[in-house]
Amino acid sequence: MSEITRRDFAKLAGLAGASALSPSAWTTLAMARNSGRVVIVGGGAGGATTAHYLKKGAPALDVTLIEANPIYSSSFFSNLYIGGLRRLVSLNHAYGGLRRLGVKVVHDVAIDVNTSRKTVRTRGGRTYHYDRLVLSPGIDIKYDSIAGYSRRAARIMPHAYTTDAHQQRLLKRHLRRMHNGGTVVMVTPNNPYRCPPGPYERACMIAHYLKTRKPRSKLVIFDPKKSFSKQALFIEAFDTHYKGIVELNLTNEIDDFSVVRVNARTREILTKAGRKVKADVANIIPQQRAGRIAVKAGCTEGDWCPINPENFSSTKVKDVYVLGDASIAFEMPKSAFAANSQAKVVASDILAELAGKERLPPHYRNTCWSLLAPDDDVKIGANYVPKDGKLERFGGFVSHPGEPHEVRKQNYLESVGWYNSITTDMFVRSGTRSRSRRRRR
Ligand SMILES: Cc1cc2nc3c(=O)[nH]c(=O)nc-3n(C[C@H](O)[C@H](O)[C@H](O)COP(=O)(O)OP(=O)(O)OC[C@H]3O[C@@H](n4cnc5c(N)ncnc54)[C@H](O)[C@@H]3O)c2cc1C
Repeated sequence: MSEITRRDFAKLAGLAGASALSPSAWTTLAMARNSGRVVIVGGGAGGATTAHYLKKGAPALDVTLIEANPIYSSSFFSNLYIGGLRRLVSLNHAYGGLRRLGVKVVHDVAIDVNTSRKTVRTRGGRTYHYDRLVLSPGIDIKYDSIAGYSRRAARIMPHAYTTDAHQQRLLKRHLRRMHNGGTVVMVTPNNPYRCPPGPYERACMIAHYLKTRKPRSKLVIFDPKKSFSKQALFIEAFDTHYKGIVELNLTNEIDDFSVVRVNARTREILTKAGRKVKADVANIIPQQRAGRIAVKAGCTEGDWCPINPENFSSTKVKDVYVLGDASIAFEMPKSAFAANSQAKVVASDILAELAGKERLPPHYRNTCWSLLAPDDDVKIGANYVPKDGKLERFGGFVSHPGEPHEVRKQNYLESVGWYNSITTDMFVRSGTRSRSRRRRR
């Protein structure tokens, strides 16, 4: 095969644009540059979107997506399931759409990365070679961040904070089995963690469940922080919708409500302030860190992965990108919206690099909706651009306390539209219903 130079390609790309190249032209170019294999670990908000946009931009590019589970159960919107406002089945997505697009989807666990040989090894015993590696493994729970908490304890006191739908089912089952008049205790994490408003939307959804099904019960929240995302809006919701149900214990100058110990056998929870509560149902959300494979790849610094804000390439390992919750994205929160936005930049960066094209200036976005009660939804969001080695936030917006019902209802409809469009964007709208029905509880 004759060698195609960067200049030849630039001419070609100038005529057609990288995304419009025919599959055979792309293969020729990629092979000529010996740089056509992209391996992605993690088929969630970041990884699945990256796979979609790489394949869409370069149909002949060799894209392998390594994902542990055949069904992705989205953490986003899982609070609505806890609240009884959505079925778990509606959060399930399969990978048929990405497969049909030509992505090689492998259901296996990546257990090691050799960054000199540029290989990823899986639990199933396979080795995958990459020219560019994309890691979007989400979070791991730091079980040891609370004394007495463990994987085993999480069966009794679920965190329900990952894509492991079994955790969500457990929490819901515990709520269903609790007597009317019981005490639910929620423990929230310190920053940084996945989805800053997530625990408080969870609190609203648990409170909604209690209000409608077990009205004599209460929800006690222990928070190690002094403040949290959309605080005024959540506090308004606790007062207007859930008065007498929610008791929020925020850390202040006198009392530290960090939880120091839990006992899964007795279901007791002890705070640094010395308060001990016996829970009928406990939802413990501990500290978190980047998914283990990012550690194995040498991408972490502390618990998370530093990245270059221009393209989310790792600052620690060459030819590796880290995006989504595992990355340190400066002021960008750890959200599915953010991961999806970062994925498009990552895909476009890889396509431009492999094709020797100039990169487009990146622009990221985020919006997070939180449901406070049926038809009462609030949002927060902003845009981000790289500046001085960081991501600078601009054009931010947030809902206000006391907004009219119509505005809040419109927010809810927007959030449902967003859920449908992001999952279409991630999974290229794959059919999951029959499989999902079998898994329904
Ligand atoms: C209760 C809750 C509510 C939320 N609500 C919202 C919301 O309203 N809006 C919003 O934008 N975000 C929300 N989020 C946050 C959102 O879920 C995450 O920020 C987003 O999923 C992060 O995307 P990711 O790609 O980093 O990780 P994930 O989407 O978690 O995907 C990671 C994937 O990697 C796989 N994986 C990990 N390690 C390996 C390995 N070694 N080998 C193979 N596969 C592996 C996992 O199985 C998983 O499928 C919420 C989160 C929670 C917990």
